Amino acid sequence: MASYNLFLLPGDGIGPEIMVEVKEVLKWFGAAGIASFETESGLVGGCAYDAHGKAISEEDMALAQAADAVLFGAVGGPKWDHAPYDVRPEAGLLRLRKDLGLFANLRPAICYPALADASSLKREVVEGLDILIVRELTGGVYFGEPKEIVTLENGEKRAVDTQVYTTHEIERIARVAFDLAKARRNKVSSAEKRNVMKSGVLWNQVVTRIGKENYSDVTLEHVLADNCAMQLVRWPKQYDVILTDNLFGDVLSDIGAMLTGSLGMLPSASLGGVDATTGRKKALYEPVHGSAPDIAGRGLANPIAMIGSFAMALRYSFGLGEAADLLDTAIANVLAAGLRTKDIASAGQNAVGTKEMGAAIVKELGSLAR
Ligand code: NAD
Repeated sequence: MASYNLFLLPGDGIGPEIMVEVKEVLKWFGAAGIASFETESGLVGGCAYDAHGKAISEEDMALAQAADAVLFGAVGGPKWDHAPYDVRPEAGLLRLRKDLGLFANLRPAICYPALADASSLKREVVEGLDILIVRELTGGVYFGEPKEIVTLENGEKRAVDTQVYTTHEIERIARVAFDLAKARRNKVSSAEKRNVMKSGVLWNQVVTRIGKENYSDVTLEHVLADNCAMQLVRWPKQYDVILTDNLFGDVLSDIGAMLTGSLGMLPSASLGGVDATTGRKKALYEPVHGSAPDIAGRGLANPIAMIGSFAMALRYSFGLGEAADLLDTAIANVLAAGLRTKDIASAGQNAVGTKEMGAAIVKELGSLAR
């Protein structure tokens, strides 16, 4: 049985509670003889700041670098709202993304039929939705220089952010999107603003070339990012993989999130380049939600986004697509049977806690595997 090394960073707030449930899922996969997972745990965010005065220690960064994949819970909370900027909880996540070179952010938006009524859109628009937003994560306007606020001679201020992309940055994210589409429904929709931005013109040219040269079997369409936002709420099922830059991806993936109902349901993956020595991609898997301080420590958090993030690790880091399908099916079945945590329960519906939801998913894995 293959064995993998996972580095767990539960973080703050509900992070540790939902990570406990993932550990039960890991144990199940080991006991079932599918794959075994060696785990080590570290500190990130506010808890790391309390322990080391930093949002992540050098020792934990080294463990993250060495792991086959990192599972990350959530960071932050009111206790650390006034921590110095450089060591604030989010700095731990940004350091991980930067040092592991995680340039591709994958956010699936899947609407389980059982939860279609939790979306703000009509059931027929979202039921059965399964799209994947691939966002470039380490370039573009959030990182481009100059980035400054300057005072002009007349006393007025001027703020500048710079949108920059190079051919290489666009090529590598495009390849990620095309490769993913090949394992799905073979369609990439590339979103940019070539009508008003030079970076959009280059993005469009590079994606078109990569598509023609290497992925002629994948359908490629180009869509202006503002139109893509509109289409996502009009008829999202027209999409398979949406490929986009850092800024537009930030906005489009949040729209994608709302299509599915609750933050507690949304997993994500951040992938880097292939490591020359190990041949593996650096990868970090995390729920989209934050540390939910309002419910932390009460056993109420929905663990599905965290468990779904592990399912993405099975699929994208370990090539265990069937195991990932099994876990996704277990989640879908538990929801179809009517189990709900508070965040996804409708009015009057009984809600279970974090542990009950986690245990039900593990039990369902057992039933499916029999
Ligand atoms: P949040 O995602 O933590 O919570 C928003 C709302 O959704 C809350 O009402 C919360 O109870 C609910 N919620 C979130 N996840 C849930 C789950 N799994 N189950 C049930 N309900 C859930 O966002 P916020 O309140 O804006 O931020 C709280 C803290 O988290 C802040 O310190 C923020 O900086 C941090 N944050 C961290 C990350 C991260 O670690 N990647 C992301 C976003 C926010």
